[in-house]
Amino acid sequence: MDNSAGTNTKKCPHCGQWSAWNLHHEDRCTHCGELLDPQAYQSVLRRTEEEHKQEKAPKVFIQIHPNDGTFTRLWKYAVLSGQMLFAAIISFFIWLGVALAG
Ligand SMILES: [Zn+2]
Repeated sequence: MDNSAGTNTKKCPHCGQWSAWNLHHEDRCTHCGELLDPQAYQSVLRRTEEEHKQEKAPKVFIQIHPNDGTFTRLWKYAVLSGQMLFAAIISFFIWLGVALAG
């Protein structure tokens, strides 16, 4: 990487010309207009997609796997029953709200 002039350059993988580069994944070649770092661009896209997927399916309840040990299962059941109780209380208040409003 050459920082001597204060600007970065990158050899374009598409046309082979040296282009100004701001170290940004969306920077495009000044000669042919193609992405200077298509791999970085793809990985950023993939990361954003995964973040969206995780937002869609939040892990509210913990998972108990069949190959968990006895101790692991015990505390997982404890946490899970706590979560169930919490969910039950929340649903009760929602039901109460609906019942009172109706
Ligand atoms: Zn180019």
